[in-house]
Amino acid sequence: MSGSYKLVARTSRPEGSTVSIGDVVIGGKEFVVAAGPCAVESKDQLMQAATGVASAGARLLRAGAFKPRTSPYAFQGLAEEGLHLLAYAGRLTGLPTVTEVLATEDIPLVAEYSDALQVGARNMQNFALLKALGAVTKPVILKRGLSATIEELMMAAEYIVLHGNPRVVLCERGIRTFETATRNTLDLNAVALLKQMTHLPVIVDPSHGTGRRDLIVPLSHAAVAIGADGLLVEVHPTPDLALSDGAQSITPAAFASLMCELAALTPIKQRQLAHGRDVASHRGRLASIDDAVDRLLRERARLTHIQSSEPNVSNIGRLPREILKL
Ligand code: PEP
Ligand code: MN
Repeated sequence: MSGSYKLVARTSRPEGSTVSIGDVVIGGKEFVVAAGPCAVESKDQLMQAATGVASAGARLLRAGAFKPRTSPYAFQGLAEEGLHLLAYAGRLTGLPTVTEVLATEDIPLVAEYSDALQVGARNMQNFALLKALGAVTKPVILKRGLSATIEELMMAAEYIVLHGNPRVVLCERGIRTFETATRNTLDLNAVALLKQMTHLPVIVDPSHGTGRRDLIVPLSHAAVAIGADGLLVEVHPTPDLALSDGAQSITPAAFASLMCELAALTPIKQRQLAHGRDVASHRGRLASIDDAVDRLLRERARLTHIQSSEPNVSNIGRLPREILKL
């Protein structure tokens, strides 16, 4: 009953609320895409994923450092080292970060390194964790529990808001049903209904929602159409080698093509999507990359020149400024 979630009920804020993660606003005009690997595995893996998703137009970088795994023998995440790498990748790409907090005692550490804290499906009704997140000044992405009703999700959000933190984003990530063809059943009913029931932004996770990378594109399209405020997508440089959730992860190239399709779709819902080809926002970084490439090519030309005593080869140093101007 709505008395159980009065703070998050749509009636308490009919115009809807927005939640900022860093400089990214969820719940406004923009359709916000968070992307990145399920887990931080190594600096290389994370950087490849992060630069790939950033250049395709993702607005938030996601990756788990503390991983909730069904099997205790499965990769559990890099923990604090993973948080360091995520913060580094976030700084380098300019993307605010999102990562899961598994336990109440880890909140200060995770909040120190990440721009937003994710509550995983398995913790949606960890009431001690939810209450403690009420005291945090960073936003929370609350994922729906595997077998949680829509009302239970609303009440879980109410816990966080009631305890002092109004910055909550809900995430539909699929629920457990009788169906075995997919890992979970992405409940699009819930997205449409939540948009009526609550003023909080609602995003969709088609990776966990299906468990299959071949379903991420169609379900992402559906998320736009149903009125979601954004997506959370798992992207890995080599999905088949991923230490977790490879089957539901797409490559940076596939992600870039998904983003192009979304850019065409979002206007039907009067939404905008950050554009992967919008290099203006990366001008500073592009210039420093150009300079580095320039320097290396000059050095290469100098060495080649010494070895081959070819006088014209030093002209290579003039190339990059031309070819890198996009
Ligand atoms: C995740 O986002 O990688 C994750 C563990 O999600 P969920 O809690 O929805 O299973
Ligand atoms: Mn995952």
